[in-house]
Amino acid sequence: MKVIIVGGVAGGASCAARLRRLDEKAEIVMVERGPYVSYANCGLPYHVGGVIEKESSLLVADANTFRSQFAVDARTGCEAIGIAPDKKTVQLRNVATGEVTTESYDKLVLSPGAPSIRPPLPGIDLPGIFQVRTVPDARAIREWIEKGSLFLSGMHKYSGFQTVRPKTRAVVIGGGFIGLETAENLVHRGFDVTLVEMGDQILAPLDQEMARIVEGYVERHGIRLALNDGVAGFQKAANDTLAVLTKSGKSYPADIVILALGVRPDTALAKMAGLKIGERGGIRVDEHMRTSNPDIFAVGDAVEVKDFVTGEWSLIALAGPANRQGRIAADVIAGRGSRFRGSQGTSIIGLFGGAAAWTGASEKTLKRIGDRDYEKIYLYPNSHAGYYPGAKPIAMKVIFRKSDGRLLGAQALGEDNVDKRISALAMALQMGATVYDLEEAELCYAPQFGSAKDPVNFAGMVAADVLRGDMPISHWDGAENGFLLDVREPVELAVEDAPGAVNIPLGQLRARLGELPRDREILVICRSGQRAYSATRLLLQRGFNARNLSGGMLSHAHASTFWES
Ligand SMILES: Cc1cc2nc3c(=O)[nH]c(=O)nc-3n(C[C@H](O)[C@H](O)[C@H](O)COP(=O)(O)OP(=O)(O)OC[C@H]3O[C@@H](n4cnc5c(N)ncnc54)[C@H](O)[C@@H]3O)c2cc1C
Repeated sequence: MKVIIVGGVAGGASCAARLRRLDEKAEIVMVERGPYVSYANCGLPYHVGGVIEKESSLLVADANTFRSQFAVDARTGCEAIGIAPDKKTVQLRNVATGEVTTESYDKLVLSPGAPSIRPPLPGIDLPGIFQVRTVPDARAIREWIEKGSLFLSGMHKYSGFQTVRPKTRAVVIGGGFIGLETAENLVHRGFDVTLVEMGDQILAPLDQEMARIVEGYVERHGIRLALNDGVAGFQKAANDTLAVLTKSGKSYPADIVILALGVRPDTALAKMAGLKIGERGGIRVDEHMRTSNPDIFAVGDAVEVKDFVTGEWSLIALAGPANRQGRIAADVIAGRGSRFRGSQGTSIIGLFGGAAAWTGASEKTLKRIGDRDYEKIYLYPNSHAGYYPGAKPIAMKVIFRKSDGRLLGAQALGEDNVDKRISALAMALQMGATVYDLEEAELCYAPQFGSAKDPVNFAGMVAADVLRGDMPISHWDGAENGFLLDVREPVELAVEDAPGAVNIPLGQLRARLGELPRDREILVICRSGQRAYSATRLLLQRGFNARNLSGGMLSHAHASTFWES
């Protein structure tokens, strides 16, 4: 059996290696148009920033490794330019010489990825404007930072004796992962960074109130955000600098510009081969990663996947799914029945020591598809036992089915161990767990790692209390007409007031019940919801109609101060 794999990075390389492990006899050809196979594109922003100093560290395995260890005919600088499905052949072009050859296949795997979006804006090809997609891209950015203009060359040789450092300015366009990661790295390299984002928030998969926390955090670490503004074009300005012009009429000066406008599935070859393209613009595959042609498979950023929660077709450009899909395609080619389960979009981004992570459906997605059978909770547990040094709060939003408690999605932000909470929740979600399962999850605990009630348990307990009717909750967006009872201490109110609320500290509540109405719904608040929970239980048992306002003052403000608390 002869298998040709197009694309030699995440999906393609994992497919090749897996196939060899399953089938020692298969003839495997892996073609990659670029100069490297199996490189770590996820590390590119950190190479730009100098965290990963050596370019060679990004090269996980080279073509020789594939040849010697896996007997894979790995060809770099080799582009697939056409497919003839009827003849089962692929046309290959040697990028250096232009020579075109034809190669036959029994099975073909497409893993061409998703190139960066590069709209035809005026001035987009000016020197100093980059994307972060490949190793040569990162190299070009580093070279530009060091000697792209006379000013940057001078800055790079800056002795450090001067007390006033002239500003180097970067404009990053796009507030997704790659834009934000590169913006952080440019801050580390001393740039004054402005991030222009057309949408009304950064990190589009997050719900807006959670994104607001990240926005406050990155702004405090030196990234200036310009939201609700699209880029309109670029101009050359004085002294080799650039001007980034936006649709609102603003002009941002820049010594370097990074384009991070998102990616689009590469479907050129698939279209040529007459393969079915889905409604989201990716290659349509079945759960075995088979395209509409049974001998052609497709994996990675170029394909549409089923959203695990909503069942909708979606585009998810992440390394984990690409690697798993490559492996599944190899399994199926080797005669196994492996299936891709769909993607939950489980993601994480690290920024200035903090992290934002999420899995499953967001509230805005559920609203968009008209799903009303959900409830959400906000909670702010410590990353580990509060008495052990270094504990940091984690802001969590957990979304679950009202009717049966099934976990639908979770978002978490914080400076310590956010990843393990979302990873645990992601696993639970994929296994179809309910919030009652989260209550019972047995997780690692010693004080430096977690709490006897881990944030994951805690989320389950709060959500289960809600569903069992032990703790009715409400949210700020429906709180306008409620009777607000604030059970915090007066000293806390001095810092952060809840306008219109009656203050009765929890410790005084039993003695002052006469001050509360019996004919109105009482919405109870504290700082994070924990004392309000006790107060709500007390009031319910005393015959009041009470609800805990989920997340208390923290979810109200989603205060920029959260990360510093
Ligand atoms: C800067 C950056 C940071 C990222 N960070 C993360 C992260 O932190 N976490 C995460 O989960 N994901 C991250 N990703 C996304 C992740 O890298 C991708 O989801 C993953 O690489 C997709 O794998 P793929 O095989 O589909 O495509 P790719 O890995 O992009 O590989 C496709 C390859 O196919 C080649 N190719 C295309 N067409 C042809 C052709 N006709 N002939 C020959 N070769 C061809 C291309 O040159 C390319 O090298 C990041 C991506 C980038 C660019």
